[in-house]
Amino acid sequence: MRFAPSPTGYFHVGSARSALFNWFVARQDPEGVFILRIEDTDAERNREEWVEGIYSAMAWLGLNLDEGPFRQSDNFAAHDSAAQLLRRAGYLYYCDCTFAELEERKGLGATPGYDGFCRERGVERGPTTALRFRTPREGVTIVRDLIRGDVEFINNLIDDFVVVKSSGVVLYALANVTDDRLDRITHVIRGEEHLANAPKQMMLWEAMNAATGDEVPLALYAHLPLLVNEQRKKLSKRKDPVATESYRDQGYLPEAFVNYLALLGWSPRGDEEIVPLSTLIEQFRLSDVSHSPAFFDVKKLTHMNGEYLRALSLDEFIERSAPWVAPWTSAWRPSDREPPWREDQFDQHLFALIAHLVQERVATFGEIPSMVAFFFLDELPIDEASFAKVIANDPLGRDLLRSAVQRFELLASWDAVSLHDATLTLGEELGLALRKSQAPIRCAVTGSLVGPPLFESLELLGREKSLARLRAALERV
Ligand code: GLU
Repeated sequence: MRFAPSPTGYFHVGSARSALFNWFVARQDPEGVFILRIEDTDAERNREEWVEGIYSAMAWLGLNLDEGPFRQSDNFAAHDSAAQLLRRAGYLYYCDCTFAELEERKGLGATPGYDGFCRERGVERGPTTALRFRTPREGVTIVRDLIRGDVEFINNLIDDFVVVKSSGVVLYALANVTDDRLDRITHVIRGEEHLANAPKQMMLWEAMNAATGDEVPLALYAHLPLLVNEQRKKLSKRKDPVATESYRDQGYLPEAFVNYLALLGWSPRGDEEIVPLSTLIEQFRLSDVSHSPAFFDVKKLTHMNGEYLRALSLDEFIERSAPWVAPWTSAWRPSDREPPWREDQFDQHLFALIAHLVQERVATFGEIPSMVAFFFLDELPIDEASFAKVIANDPLGRDLLRSAVQRFELLASWDAVSLHDATLTLGEELGLALRKSQAPIRCAVTGSLVGPPLFESLELLGREKSLARLRAALERV
């Protein structure tokens, strides 16, 4: 099994799914070998940091390699000699048609694409000649796809495609097949967009077998269903959140992400979709993968992540949230996501005490900082709209705050139960339900209307700070 991404700048969720399905198949087989091959022969798409991005995203997902990573560009000599071998054996021919000539003749021939003008002209190699594959004019090529069954391509509709550019660059189809043959790849598992390449690659594979006399069995093909967005359109690089790294940086758990990816076109047996990795590996079958497009549902992924977060032990939750809450303690930190507090403002002990309140309420680690900022910041960030709604423009809210200050000052014990009971009584006196009477207190103390449970938070924040914030809110209006 091999995963053969081209560096594109970020690690597309579709690539992550292809990598995962290859990895599943490799891990099911005691002899299975999982290879990473970076298809970096396109010089424009060959930035080192993009390649690094692929390594780090794969490592994050836990997709360990048995061999590699390999660089396709390291194998140029083999691609080039494959091309020369195929040319000598008559499978490829030189073509000196210019772009302008091709444009002029477009649509006149029987074959779509290149019209075969140079096929029998015996063009010699020159500085502007490309090498084209002599596609059979008769018959069909059948791709035996493990997911889709037999897909038939009429050979006459496949044009004599370019294999080597005039610049000498060996194009994707042959580079890919040469490497797959050399590595004795048994399965080519990749996205549906490559289905149309499969007949060309099969032709090249078989031509190589014949030209070399080395009968390498053709790989088995499996083309995974397209990923679509909510509008059932192909995921758009610009409009849809398709970069795997951004999920990592937002604080999704790799195990949740892997579990979710597994559901894109496949599902485990039984009703439960949240299943351990070992079960995914055991149950996964390419033949059970669907051919219809799979909806990449960020809401579902986020929900699933929340479930995984809640299933962590408290210690693990605390430890794994470090890159988002205390990045200075962690080897890895997410990009563009500094917590709103400085190291000297953060209190690890306090965080450990509030973590269980947070664990119940967040869907990603990235949601934690804004939810608990009020514990660590003296300059409270106040959500002005909420403040206006429940305090500034609400006389009842202000009455409640005033009485809360008085009543809380007198509390013998500053604990969640006493604070709860006091608020309940205050609210009743003003004719407010508990939810209503909590709102101005929460807003005054935390700056927002959403957050961890209020009374536990007040208890942990302490009498002095809580009262000071209640008074400050009254002074603000
Ligand atoms: N480099 C190709 C891509 O990234 C790989 C196609 C294949 O797996 O054969 O789409």
